[in-house]
Amino acid sequence: MNFYQHTLQRSTSSTGIGLHSGKKINLVLRPAEPDTGIVFKRTDLSGSPLIPGDVYNVVDTHFCTTLAQNNVTVSTVEHLLSALYAMGVDNAIVETDAPEIPIMDGSSAPFLLLLRYAGLARQNKLRQFYIVKREVTIQDNDRFVKIIPASEELSVDFSIAFSHPAIREQRLRFLLSSENYVREISKARTFGFLADMQKLHENGLALGGSLKNAVVMDDFNVINKEGLRFKDEFVRHKILDFVGDLALIGRPVLGHFVVHKSGHDLNNRLFRKFLADSTAWQLVNPQQLNVPEYGNLQSLCPQPPLTVGLSR
Ligand SMILES: [Zn+2]
Repeated sequence: MNFYQHTLQRSTSSTGIGLHSGKKINLVLRPAEPDTGIVFKRTDLSGSPLIPGDVYNVVDTHFCTTLAQNNVTVSTVEHLLSALYAMGVDNAIVETDAPEIPIMDGSSAPFLLLLRYAGLARQNKLRQFYIVKREVTIQDNDRFVKIIPASEELSVDFSIAFSHPAIREQRLRFLLSSENYVREISKARTFGFLADMQKLHENGLALGGSLKNAVVMDDFNVINKEGLRFKDEFVRHKILDFVGDLALIGRPVLGHFVVHKSGHDLNNRLFRKFLADSTAWQLVNPQQLNVPEYGNLQSLCPQPPLTVGLSR
């Protein structure tokens, strides 16, 4: 367990393509003071307005998560947020010169590489943790998200069910640690269907979406030449997205999630319902937890062989 807040050791930058615009975007990650949280900064607009990463700033969840404050928006934030949360980065400024974060290869692995270059710095302020005190559920027909008290760990049991023959039913129980995340989740790419993508392109949407940043399926098969990175890459990406949505709570959460066929919209509704019910959680300092502190900061930022480039 990582007791203290962390930020980046140094600023680091990258470029990538915007999913919506198809244009090149410059991304800079900068260290930030304790208790800042993850704050997005639109450097393309006058005054470089800020948009805090917060569950209450989510304004749109159609095929990515969009945040807004004072009518300034930033889209496609979830994969970067997922990487930051999984690596235990509490405070950072994320600068982008576009209304979105680059899609990179459709996973969060390129952002992990960026964090590895930035390094992590421990700050002189303790983290506070949300402990789940009682079950909270949100349901929408057969889709649901449930949070259950758990013994001082964060785990997600995610299941999906698609009629598409390349997906079908997939289920994975994931115990969050930075090491597990790097190994099991970070490389899983977003996915979509060729027919939907063609429709979006015709309407001038998702212009950056391509086989370079998504697993794409025709009526029967995955059409990417390289195939899948995992047999069950789809459910792994859903967990990647879930961790990114969870990051918007702003503090580490210790509980067990059971999730079925959920997406960004339902995830966000569950987090809002959870936070609004003060009997469902308790904020605690790490000394109140019965867990050891990490002795070695390196364990927060593991360095496995990452095979994904920083920019394209
Ligand atoms: Zn995603």
